[in-house]
This record gives sequence, structure tokens and C-alpha cells, in this order.
Amino acid sequence: MAAKIISGKEISKEIREELKKEVQELKEKHGVTPGLVTILVGNNPASVSYVTAKQKAAHDLGFYSVQDNQPEDISEEALLDLIKKYNEDPKIHGILVQLPLPKHIDERKVIYAIDPRKDVDGFHPVNVGKMVIGEPCFLPCTPHGILVMLERAGVEVDGAEVVVVGRSNIVGKPVANLLLQKRKPVGNATVTVCHTGTRDMAFHTRRADILIVAAGRPKVVTADMVKEGVVVIDVGVNRIGTTPEGKAILCGDVDFESVKEKAAAITPVPGGVGPMTITMLMKNTVEAAKLWAGLPCEVA
Ligand code: NAP
Repeated sequence: MAAKIISGKEISKEIREELKKEVQELKEKHGVTPGLVTILVGNNPASVSYVTAKQKAAHDLGFYSVQDNQPEDISEEALLDLIKKYNEDPKIHGILVQLPLPKHIDERKVIYAIDPRKDVDGFHPVNVGKMVIGEPCFLPCTPHGILVMLERAGVEVDGAEVVVVGRSNIVGKPVANLLLQKRKPVGNATVTVCHTGTRDMAFHTRRADILIVAAGRPKVVTADMVKEGVVVIDVGVNRIGTTPEGKAILCGDVDFESVKEKAAAITPVPGGVGPMTITMLMKNTVEAAKLWAGLPCEVA
């Protein structure tokens, strides 16, 4: 049985259409234009391409968007001052600092400096804490995107055995946390988290009704490690080469070709989780704009 492909590209398209209408309405009825700044330090090629895609999405949705490029050798102090400036800028509702940052800058200090009410990445400890106790807040974009994909693909999460591979602060931990919350329709699962200290990973992955893989290792999950009918969300983005035209060749953390023969549904790489991450950043920015305008919103 070949798996149904859960297309993040298609689901993203739907959500962006909905957001476009919402932005239009915010402008017409309330005179509010969602504002997003993306701050890029240096010119790491992957970061440049992520920031470019975020800016394009913001522009297409009719946001007020600012791309702020800073040199690789910007001091930590100057970067913190820049964040302070955007914290105080009423036209900006969302601040995104593209990670990773150069080694001489403490990422933690930078994340802490962002006003939690403009933290559209959902990385500030205030938002992380609220997420853990189930309060409204900015959810981190990749885990939020995964929740929305599961919901729109009609996957039954309530009561499911979910196995997450990876425990990073941006993917593994938050997605595990969100799925175990007593929340419908996407939540109330029994969640297991695997990592490099897990003794027998296949023992766990074979039990999964839903398997979410964010290990950052190409094809670390193979067909022998999953059961028939599993739903697979592959978060990994691994650059495994370049085409003669110089384009990156990508693959996920799951061996797509073999696993799709056993899975009921699977996300592709590219075109799976990636587009959803950017879309949820846009969603968070719209929610931030509503928050600052004193309108009902999902984050407060
Ligand atoms: P990360 O910070 O490197 O964390 C990887 C996690 O996987 C760690 O917890 C690590 O365990 C675990 N791990 C690594 N190899 C493993 C193995 N062989 N068996 C079991 N666990 C293993 O990575 P991340 O930031 O979460 O990202 C994961 C992947 O998702 C990357 O490919 C990244 O590019 C991709 N990503 C994609 C998007 C998107 O929008 N599509 C967004 C974010 C990330 P330890 O904790 O024990 O080291």
C-alpha cells in the first residue's frame, strides 16, 4: 500500500489564502497592517534562503515587512540595541532573529531580549512556559505547523501512540509537549521521545501510530523500524549534495522511498513540514498584530 502524501505545500497554500483575507480585513476594518522584521546576521546560505522565503511570504500576504541585514561581526550589544528598537516600534508586531547566530553572540540573551508579545518564533521562555502549561501563547512555528498538518490531514491523534525522535528545544520537546496536552482535536496522545541516549530506538518507533522525526540525520528511520499504517511526519532537512545547476539536493530524516510503502500517510521533503513552518510564522505575526491592536486573538 503506497502512503497518502501529506503535502505541507498544499496545506500552507490553503492557510495563506485564509491569512490573506484576514490581513485584508484587518487593514480595512481596523486600520491594522501586520508588521514583521526579520533580522539576519552574516550571510550563511541556508539562513539567507530561509529569511528570503519568510520575507516573500510576508510580502505576498500584504504585511509591512522589514529585512534587516547585519554584518557577521556585529557586537552582541549592538544586536541587543537593535532588538530594543524593534520592541519599541509600533509598526512592528513580530521580531524574528534568524538562528544560528555567530559564536561571539549569546543566542539566549538575544531570545530573552525580544518582547514576548512580539516573539513570533515562540522561543522566549515566557511563551515556552505558557505553552507547557497550556495557556494561549505564540507556539513555536515548526511544532505548530505539524499540529495543523495532522489536523487538516484528518489524522486521529486522540489516544494515539506518538513517537518523537529528537528532543531539541525548537522541534522535539515542544511537539511532544503539545501532543500530550489534553486538547482536541490535536492532542491527548501518549507520547514517547527518543534521542541519542535511547537504547533501542526501533522498539519504540515500531509501536508508533504517528512517528515524528526531527533528528537532523539523513534517512535515520528505515522501513524495518515502522509498522504498517503509521503516519510519518519527517521534519528533517538534510543537504546531501548539489545539482549541476548548483541547487541543494535535500532529503529528510526518514528513508521516504521504503517507508512510504508501509505508511498510511507521510510528509515529503521538500514540500512537507518546511512550508508549514513559514506559514505558522505568518499566522503568529497576524495574531501579534491583533494582540497589539487589542483585538481578540489566539495568543492571549
Ligand atoms: P537538533 O537540535 O540537532 O536535535 C536533533 C535531536 O535528534 C537531538 O535531540 C538528538 O539527540 C536527536 N538525534 C540525533 N541523532 C539521533 C539518532 N541517530 N537517534 C535518535 N536521536 C537522534 O535538530 P533540530 O533543530 O531539532 O532539527 C532536526 C531536523 O529538523 C534538522 O534536519 C533540521 O534541519 C530540521 N528542521 C526543519 C525545520 C523545517 O521547518 N522543516 C525546522 C526546524 C528543524 P540528543 O539530544 O541526544 O543529542
